Amino acid sequence: MGQSVLTTAFARRDGVLYCEDVPAETIARQAGTPTFVYSAAVLRDRYRRLAAALAGVKHRVHYSLKANANRAILSVLRELGSGADVVSGGELHRALRAGFHGHDIIFGGVGKTGQELREALKAGVKLINVESEAELYLLEAIARELGVVAPVGFRINPDVTVENPHAYIATGSRGHKFGIPHDEALDLAKKARALEHVELIGLDMHVGSQLATLEPYRAGLERLRELAERMVGAGAPIRYVDIGGGLPVRYDEGDVEPDLDAFARIISPVVKRMNAELIVEPGRFFAAASGVLLARVLYRKRSGGKDYVIADAGMTELLRPSHYDAYHLIESAKPSGERAVVDVVGPVCESGDFLAQDREMDDMEPGDLLVIHTAGAYGYVMSSNYNARPKAAEVMVDGARFAVVTARESYDDLTRLEQAHPDWRDV
Ligand SMILES: *Cc1c(COP(=O)(O)O)cnc(C)c1O
Repeated sequence: MGQSVLTTAFARRDGVLYCEDVPAETIARQAGTPTFVYSAAVLRDRYRRLAAALAGVKHRVHYSLKANANRAILSVLRELGSGADVVSGGELHRALRAGFHGHDIIFGGVGKTGQELREALKAGVKLINVESEAELYLLEAIARELGVVAPVGFRINPDVTVENPHAYIATGSRGHKFGIPHDEALDLAKKARALEHVELIGLDMHVGSQLATLEPYRAGLERLRELAERMVGAGAPIRYVDIGGGLPVRYDEGDVEPDLDAFARIISPVVKRMNAELIVEPGRFFAAASGVLLARVLYRKRSGGKDYVIADAGMTELLRPSHYDAYHLIESAKPSGERAVVDVVGPVCESGDFLAQDREMDDMEPGDLLVIHTAGAYGYVMSSNYNARPKAAEVMVDGARFAVVTARESYDDLTRLEQAHPDWRDV
């Protein structure tokens, strides 16, 4: 707790910003901008702290690829013992390619296609978290066809109140599209028992992201425990209890890092009483603070009484400010000491294309390097080619070395799938 927004991995030496032992400016010069930079040390530190806090309870961490599916990040976490949590066939593909085995992978998501369910079964995943009765029957049919028994978890909507910074990242209250309503789950468990090719062995929830308090975990888990008890009574041995992701990170001075020991104290006794293995699926908690976005200042301008810093990154690279009204600390890699109140905006033809508004921050000149902090989660994965902007590069730093782990897209990449001479089909 009480850790600065600026982790020690992104700190200043003699006034210039470093990523671990590599100056940010060196990376920007060699890899260009905009570029996401991830610190292997931060990933390792955060993984180890969570694993240590949960050491007293039988558990497995399944990193949520949704936050950042970069292969280098997956490798670092896999080597530490992490499993994977995926929500699409594409993420399953990425997880397998990064070396995760089927038994390391949990498959979730509210709208899995038949094809995706088939792929998950063929990969031999540890758990498929089912979100509706219709999905359960589709899974039964596909598993029958493949001659296997599908390991099933029920994603429960525990109907708990969640306090977090934006409605789009709350998912566990009545009326959300996610999960099986908790008061319908027991009936569905009884129906599942009659099916030959599904075995209900887990209960799951994911109540939201960037959770401001630990209370939703306590309340939601209590719901799962009650349900599990009744399900065991109905003949469904619940072996896994999956409490999803949602651990918050510190974006702004007012935010706090989660108290991992308090988290463990709330979770562990309940899980032990359930005699189950705990599964946690953090995404943001690992990835967010591990990454920064580097961007170059293109222009300064004054318009309509406002000062603008126009950067070569915007909503196409980091959608969070415009989509979630999210705050990211922004500073100069080499501050002049001058401060200004500015809007930091990108080059995209949208008024919603901003990284910060009315922000007092380092004053910047064209050519200066901007560092947008805590951008490792829900950054690159949400980026787009809008305005035909090639996607940014991704770099990993490990000590005094760095590597480009995703090349910047080229113009050719933008048109690679396009058909110059359409193959018309007469019907
Ligand atoms: C998004 C998501 C996660 C990860 O959430 P974070 O807030 O990034 O930890 C975990 N599990 C499920 C099912 C999700 O949809």
